[in-house]
Amino acid sequence: MKKIAFVTGASRGIGRAVAARLAEEGYAVGINYLRSAQQAQELADSLRAAGYEAAAVQADVADQTAITDAIRLAEERLDGPVSLLVNNAGIAEQHLFQDISSAFWRRIFAVNVDGAYHAIQAVLPRMIHEKAGCIVNISSIWGQRGASCETAYSATKAAIIGLTRSLAMEVAPSGIRVNCVAPGVIRTDMVEVLGAETLRSLAEETPLGRLGTPEDIANAVAFLADDRASFLTGQVLTADGGFIL
Ligand code: NAP
Repeated sequence: MKKIAFVTGASRGIGRAVAARLAEEGYAVGINYLRSAQQAQELADSLRAAGYEAAAVQADVADQTAITDAIRLAEERLDGPVSLLVNNAGIAEQHLFQDISSAFWRRIFAVNVDGAYHAIQAVLPRMIHEKAGCIVNISSIWGQRGASCETAYSATKAAIIGLTRSLAMEVAPSGIRVNCVAPGVIRTDMVEVLGAETLRSLAEETPLGRLGTPEDIANAVAFLADDRASFLTGQVLTADGGFIL
């Protein structure tokens, strides 16, 4: 069966590196984006120029109809069903708990948790039919450990770990593996808001002495998707340079 990966939130940061890495691993890749159309299109063009198959498709993962349609469009353009889904799209904001608006609480759950639910619902029937498939969810170390001013984000990322473990048990008899990666602090736009000083001290607090790169996470995703991980399911692979040890 043709290897087709669909990566949500692949226009920038971790998702972009994951899409590029999976193309190198032989996957035709669906590149989902929300607002960064130009960056997503440039990535698809550069992958095609390098001889890979790629298609950029716009959708808000929080909108079930939109993301389902985007997955179907990518499958049409890549000529086959998605065999690997990477639920990467996510948002983060730091707030004191009492300052979290109900609108923000609903939005962060809609993107970080409902988004994964929507994309999985769109690909699972076909995976069950094929009795094969792989899902990799992107959680966070803040889904494993508490962090001040990260309550909403942390709750969504812990939900992703619960979803991963339970779905892994449910679909294992159908030959489908479900795992997640919990990244530590990774140099992307998401953490630039913390400022250079904070990022320097976070790097110093990391046993391996540096922040992570999007490629570090892409390597972890590629490993979980690979046949070498064929006996791994329901796992949380923490990729954080030892930060939460
Ligand atoms: P980023 O640099 O802010 O990029 C976010 C990506 O998600 C962009 O491509 C963005 O698309 C997309 N996106 C956001 N909302 C979306 C939506 N509603 N529908 C579809 N796409 C959407 O973030 P990142 O650092 O790469 O983070 C990627 C994932 O890793 C997230 O789940 C994040 O929580 C997780 N993570 C990151 C870190 C870290 O330190 N960076 C640590 C742990 C976990 P557009 O640009 O097109 O709008």
